[in-house]
Amino acid sequence: MRFTRLRLNGFKSFVDPTDLVIHDGLTGVVGPNGCGKSNLLEALRWVMGENRPTAMRGGGMEDVIFAGAATRPARHFAEVALVLDNADRLAPSGFNDQDQIEIVRRITRDAGSAYKANQKDVRARDIQMLFADASTGAHSPALVRQGQISELINAKPKARRRILEEAAGISGLYQRRHEAELR
Ligand code: ATP
Ligand code: MG
Repeated sequence: MRFTRLRLNGFKSFVDPTDLVIHDGLTGVVGPNGCGKSNLLEALRWVMGENRPTAMRGGGMEDVIFAGAATRPARHFAEVALVLDNADRLAPSGFNDQDQIEIVRRITRDAGSAYKANQKDVRARDIQMLFADASTGAHSPALVRQGQISELINAKPKARRRILEEAAGISGLYQRRHEAELR
């Protein structure tokens, strides 16, 4: 599976519908301060199920909706779509019947979030399952947040080890060992 498109509508500063094609080898986004680079990465995490407002630099989940500007009123909803190429048919069962998977997350003021996968309603948990074994997802260490490198450098050794273990994908093993020892 690979990401091929990211579409935003009313998400943070992306008030007008924006369609981004993600080519092979894309590793970073550059642009002037405040142009929306961090918002783009947040949109990618959000559509994959991120539910912590702090990870979206907001106080509440509705803060991802375009809040209005001097010349434009606020929006009532935000929507992000992520298109995955599934030509290799490696998606988990339940998602694996098509060559392309389109995930859409939409949040409406006072009505919360809803997800769709290829036009069908799905639960947040289904989206987590889709990414669980694909080494990606909302909490993937592959998505490097602004300031995260200096956090890593400045972290105490134990905290740094936790981050590295998370990146190596072995933190789940500790959890399972801990559970086994309790039995
Ligand atoms: P830098 O280079 O400084 O890191 P950046 O390209 O990462 O900048 P972002 O942080 O992605 O920029 O975008 C910041 C802009 O997004 C700000 O102008 C901010 O006002 C705007 N913004 C964030 N949330 C919303 C919202 N809910 N509604 C409207 N605008 C928003
Ligand atoms: Mg930024």
